[in-house]
Amino acid sequence: MVQPRKQFAQHWLKSEKALDAIVKAAECQESDRILEIGPGTGILTRRLLPLVKYLVAVEIDRDLCELLVKQLGKKDNFLLLQGDFLNLDLVSQLKAFSDFQKLNKVVANIPYNITGPIIEKLLGTISNPNPEPFDSIVLLVQKEVAERLYAQPGSRTFGALSVRVQYLAKCELICTVPASAFYPPPKVDSAVVRLIPQQIAIPAQDPKRLETLIKLGFASKRKMLRNNLQSVIDRDRLTELLAQLNINPQVRAEDLSVAQWVSLVNQL
Ligand code: SAH
Repeated sequence: MVQPRKQFAQHWLKSEKALDAIVKAAECQESDRILEIGPGTGILTRRLLPLVKYLVAVEIDRDLCELLVKQLGKKDNFLLLQGDFLNLDLVSQLKAFSDFQKLNKVVANIPYNITGPIIEKLLGTISNPNPEPFDSIVLLVQKEVAERLYAQPGSRTFGALSVRVQYLAKCELICTVPASAFYPPPKVDSAVVRLIPQQIAIPAQDPKRLETLIKLGFASKRKMLRNNLQSVIDRDRLTELLAQLNINPQVRAEDLSVAQWVSLVNQL
């Protein structure tokens, strides 16, 4: 057993059931070109490799990279890149490997300390979406984050992250995974989620403005939206706009659906 390093948020998944759920959610096809972030000791990598065309894994830990190469041997459909996924320019790195172009799916049990930045790198942002979106992204994440990703408006967990991500992708819960499924067990439970990037039906005309309003709108969760936004939109004006959109003027940020956020910004 390779001793996990805290510094890289290493928790080895050991549950066969969780691995089955991840692989099933990825709906692997023989033509799939997979990206895995943080393969660790390769428990998920080994499952995926026989099912897909090829897999590119990005792992920060040099020692693990050596071990993976040694253990997996030379496989034609496996490429391991050593580095920090967040600082890696994947497209330019892959230029040197003509057999490993255009990845179409992400499947990964990621390091939880950088979940937000990883999701943002995979999806892009509202004002700068990933120009080459993946077909699907299956991730094992901390349960609290998962709940925010698939939350519906009006629920306690529907926050700025929910709006930002759901603007760019359909999000679904696949299953929850207990802390005991890992070695060492993390402090929190986990969940498998699937994100399907898709273009929103009616996009924001001014995406930057939408980003600003989401940030401000959720700044103080218990306040009404018109109070959170009063520094940028006059309260009376917002009350009027909300009425026009058939929205109760006393709403809080968490009550607006993504489509309503867009309508609001497009009416301003
Ligand atoms: N997928 C493996 C390991 C999960 S632990 C399993 O399920 O068992 C998270 C993994 O991400 C570790 O291998 C860790 O070294 C790696 N990692 C942490 N930070 C990273 C980063 N910035 N870029 C790439 N890999 C990273």
